[in-house]
Amino acid sequence: MKKGLLAVLIVLALGAFGVWWLRGGKTAAVPPASASPKDKLEVTVSGYVPYTLAKQIGGERVNLHMLVPPGAEPHSFEPTPGSIIAVSEADLFIYISPRVEPWTKDILKGLSGVNALEAGPSFPEQDPHVWMTPYGALEMAKRITKALTKADPAGKAYYKKNLIEFENEIKELHASFMNGFADCQSRDVVHVGHLAFGNLAQTYGLHLQSLTGTSHQSEHSVRKLAGLVRYIRKHGVPAVFTEETLSPELAATVVRETKVRVLPLYTVEEVSKKDFDAGITYGEYMRRNLHNLREGLKCRP
Ligand SMILES: [Zn+2]
Repeated sequence: MKKGLLAVLIVLALGAFGVWWLRGGKTAAVPPASASPKDKLEVTVSGYVPYTLAKQIGGERVNLHMLVPPGAEPHSFEPTPGSIIAVSEADLFIYISPRVEPWTKDILKGLSGVNALEAGPSFPEQDPHVWMTPYGALEMAKRITKALTKADPAGKAYYKKNLIEFENEIKELHASFMNGFADCQSRDVVHVGHLAFGNLAQTYGLHLQSLTGTSHQSEHSVRKLAGLVRYIRKHGVPAVFTEETLSPELAATVVRETKVRVLPLYTVEEVSKKDFDAGITYGEYMRRNLHNLREGLKCRP
């Protein structure tokens, strides 16, 4: 066990018990991955963004273990003793940033000598969801490629090839987004969710209204919900967009009041069990987002 690990485990075990008790005894984490061939690089990732990017670049050479389980949201995740062990035993731990995952600070504080990569932005941005633009995701993929290559030099050419393929996909994706909103009835993206699409809206000239701030903990209120309803009526907004892990009740309220269409948007940081099992990629999520945005904003052709 690494220095300080035991102390962290004890603190977390107590904390985890409290959380478990508060949630009525529901388990909150995915069980550790089963034993794998020893020649693969063992990579623990915080959540689905580093998971899908590391899978795309690392492919067959890496064995991935994800801490935030499918169906959960990453901002308020509570690490378990199992999370600490998965980080301490991995060849590499990849997370986005403490601004997105505040709980990673607690994990890393107690562990020394862990090979960890903060794949997200190194400077503070208003909206830390940088992967929500294709080129933001590419920047993260480049950092991940570098870290994988350092941990597994024999895979250098393989990782590089995968990065080039991903870069080509990113270029196409960006072009589709650039062309996708040329002829739309509306550019107002009213999102009954947390502020995850700020970078995307800014990059592609859309006007974003989100119900809450950049994390799920941000306060949402009846007043803010009423504000969205007023905005939809005033500007003739044709649709509202939702996110999976926020209460569907909130979107239902907006739809009841305005009778507009409702379509999901995907933050990639949250993955449903179904999508996880299907191995959905970053590109697939973003193409779904583009499709639904174009539907909701009534874009032609
Ligand atoms: Zn988020």
